[in-house]
Amino acid sequence: MRILIVEDEETIADIITTKLRAEKYVVDTSYDGEDGLYKANSNIYDLIILDIMLPKINGLEILKEIKENDINAKVILLTAKSELDDKLKGFDTGADDYVTKPFHMEELIARVNVQLRNKGKNKMKDILEYSDLTLNIRTSTLTCKRTNESINIPYREFLLLEYFMHNKEQIISKEQIYDKVWGIDTDYESNNLEAYLSFLRKKIKIIGSKVKIKAVRNLGYKMEE
Ligand code: CA
Repeated sequence: MRILIVEDEETIADIITTKLRAEKYVVDTSYDGEDGLYKANSNIYDLIILDIMLPKINGLEILKEIKENDINAKVILLTAKSELDDKLKGFDTGADDYVTKPFHMEELIARVNVQLRNKGKNKMKDILEYSDLTLNIRTSTLTCKRTNESINIPYREFLLLEYFMHNKEQIISKEQIYDKVWGIDTDYESNNLEAYLSFLRKKIKIIGSKVKIKAVRNLGYKMEE
């Protein structure tokens, strides 16, 4: 699950980022409204934490525009106590929730979890399943049900595997994988997708699973039995 934080107070943005990464979310950060809107419009995020008072373009304008563009991310607004009117405007323009500054980090995390749990029935389950594989999202442990063998999956491979398991038996393009796993600011050339896939395939094989991640010529990759 990928989250965008748009917040010009860098200290706050960085603390939120650290906390959410500890919760196993993939997090990108924008420190101004223009960059925030650009990233939000990529439509790769499951949730956006959006400050209202921002340089260049304010949070409510961003919210209005992404709703017009049918961006399907959940949006949590960050508002100062003095911006109660803004809060109401936020709901008019389609925010899903708001958190008033100053806030406890635990409260924000709880609200993020609630929004993402609501977003899709399967998406926030602790266990993802496909064929003979189960992936525990909390512990990053991959288990083969037939052999009962487990292996721990490192961060980047975990993100890859999670993405494949959410899109099982579908062809996923390299671009989609890069956007989702590395983020849209990425220099594609610098990432060795093939190498990560090969590490991941080996781990799947080691625990005795029948699942394969196949290359589909000119189109991308597909997870299948
Ligand atoms: Ca601000």
